[in-house]
Amino acid sequence: MIYLDNASTTMCTIEAAEAVKNNSVFNYFNPSAKYISALDVYRKLEEAREKLVSFVGANKKDYSVVFTGSATEANNMILSSGITSHYESLISIGEHSSVYETAKKLERDGKKVKFINLNNDGEVDLKDLEKNISAKTGFISVMLVSNETGAVNKVSEIIKLAKKINPKVKVHIDAVQGFGKIKINLDKLGADYLTVSSHKIGGPKGVGAVIYKKQIKLEPIIFGGGQEMGKRSGTENYPGIAGFITASESRIKTIEEHFKQVFEFKKEFSSALEENAKKHNLTLITNGNLESSSPYIYSVSFEGIKGEVILHSLEREGILVGTGSACNSAHSGNRILEAMGRTKKQVEGNVRFSFDYDTCKENPVTLAEKIIEIISKIKR
Ligand code: PLP
Repeated sequence: MIYLDNASTTMCTIEAAEAVKNNSVFNYFNPSAKYISALDVYRKLEEAREKLVSFVGANKKDYSVVFTGSATEANNMILSSGITSHYESLISIGEHSSVYETAKKLERDGKKVKFINLNNDGEVDLKDLEKNISAKTGFISVMLVSNETGAVNKVSEIIKLAKKINPKVKVHIDAVQGFGKIKINLDKLGADYLTVSSHKIGGPKGVGAVIYKKQIKLEPIIFGGGQEMGKRSGTENYPGIAGFITASESRIKTIEEHFKQVFEFKKEFSSALEENAKKHNLTLITNGNLESSSPYIYSVSFEGIKGEVILHSLEREGILVGTGSACNSAHSGNRILEAMGRTKKQVEGNVRFSFDYDTCKENPVTLAEKIIEIISKIKR
């Protein structure tokens, strides 16, 4: 099997799975209990918080972490605190559904939310953003890397611009597709909230986190025993958190080396795919900018062939790909590609290839040749 759907999820690494196992079978105590074995888990949990803060280049004096059950939950929590009735909130139209749908719900509840356009490359349209930021803007949410197209937003520029216009504005960066793949320096960025997820980087599923400035408002959306400094009740999933930290640690160490490898892979794969598509008279459109997008995600559209048909044809030959975000599969159309100006046919023909460092063991040229051969058979 060749797995090219790493933006959807990744395989849990053996080391991360070992950490989950050891902390489930041996070190399984409730961190809130009062005996020494439990205190030990509590200490490790606090250590995990500090490590995660350091992995995103933040100072533990300024930032803290709330562990959640997913990045979806983390995004819901941040938006529920960030979007209020007192001011206007700006959300990019390209956000993951966990941000976009939460913003829509809060808008239905009467909060003032404006949605910011994307440019043709799928990045947040800075002109549209600038036009909409004012002294009334209190909260902005933009993602670091688009899960649909790999577009990398100019988050540093966005934060600077926003804080210049209104120093009180709070900015949230959904870094789920960037964390462990693209270097993040939160201290320099100055974002107020950042979201990460474990299962996108070889950690176990069911673990996410909010990394936030300590003095900033972050209200709970789950109430109960007051765990996670009262911000997220429920016994902490320390085994999962330990797995997440193990996976993160190894990612952070190899971040640059893997980036280069995957960058080269995508470059060769995309040019071979384009070349072979031309040979077979297939119309292939790249959704995004190959130079500036994340090497880990490559979105294309084959005009006139349905993405889902391509997905199943490739699956029969042992190649697994995505057709845009799995979270979008219940909806028809694709809000992000539509916002980039793609036609209905181009949206329907969308295929998302998403890579990881272990994808690089494949030969990108022969893989692209094989994929185009399979797709051209559908056309015939
Ligand atoms: N944000 C982005 C950009 C994502 O790609 C995803 C998952 O695809 C999420 C948030 C949600 O992550 P989780 O699966 O941990 O809920």
